[in-house]
Amino acid sequence: MSLIVVGTMAFDAIETPFGKVDKIIGGSATYVSWAASNFIKPIKQVSIIGGDFPDKEIASLKERGVEFDGVEVVKDGKSFFWSGRYHLDMNTRDTLITDLNVLAQFNPQLPDSYQGSEFLMLGNLAPAVQISVIKQLKTRPKLIVLDTMNFWMEVALDGVKEVLTMVDVLMVNDAEARQLSGEHSLVKAAMKIMKMGPKFLIIKKGEHGALLFHEKSVFFAPALPLEDVFDPTGAGDSFAGGFIGHLAKTKDISYNNMKTAIIVGSAMASFCVEKFGPSRLQEVSPADITERINEFVELVNFDINLV
Ligand code: AMP
Repeated sequence: MSLIVVGTMAFDAIETPFGKVDKIIGGSATYVSWAASNFIKPIKQVSIIGGDFPDKEIASLKERGVEFDGVEVVKDGKSFFWSGRYHLDMNTRDTLITDLNVLAQFNPQLPDSYQGSEFLMLGNLAPAVQISVIKQLKTRPKLIVLDTMNFWMEVALDGVKEVLTMVDVLMVNDAEARQLSGEHSLVKAAMKIMKMGPKFLIIKKGEHGALLFHEKSVFFAPALPLEDVFDPTGAGDSFAGGFIGHLAKTKDISYNNMKTAIIVGSAMASFCVEKFGPSRLQEVSPADITERINEFVELVNFDINLV
């Protein structure tokens, strides 16, 4: 069982009410793979980096079972750079800079060794690249999950709409679901978005949890109330990694198993926000993850006697 992860590998500059960092490792595929590698190996990464991306980071991902045959290195180019500033609520942020750099010329060539993968996580990235990867796969994966964001809806809406017709699950945040559908009610937004292609839709609501929609059903996973949230960057991608990692590990893509998968995803997101960048994700152990998932179970577990 293998998983392909497509996305950015980047440098980020982040400002939160608790601190500021000028240049740390980030990128959607970086976070997805750190989170997913707790559940599934190998992970076949598809991305592009400049010669400035640290060898040490590549080596530590390789140690976690992440393969780099599909990662293009542009020796004299600069890696994707993103900078964001969080508001006091830590739930909303402004993007200050998006420098595509090497991403602007990315035309992925899928290695033969990536064919036959059963799970495909299309992390946040240009929709044209996401579409190109799907088209290069000779056998359609069992499950294709798509993440995207407002940036791509603004600069490449037609591409976003096209890739939506090709995937099984879409994950976006509440503002993006509203932007994509033009509906304020998340229930109406979900119904409209599912008509655009994906049979399953996950709407992430930051510290207010996540909703999983499928046909007429909806399931809610809370976010763990944490004492300290230092940096929410990558929480969505860590969620995605936990979600698809659990599905790939259990080889079960039913709606019922997706309910468990969004709890696993929420647990991975809760680790991610505890430190700046992916550093907290890099240190968690399987025992930490089990303990955290149990905290989620406790959070929503109650007895009720209906009279
Ligand atoms: P998240 O907080 O889960 O939305 O993910 C944040 C990560 O996504 C950061 O590490 C950024 O490098 C990366 N990122 C930000 N904007 C984009 C974009 N337009 N496309 C792809 N990745 C992005």
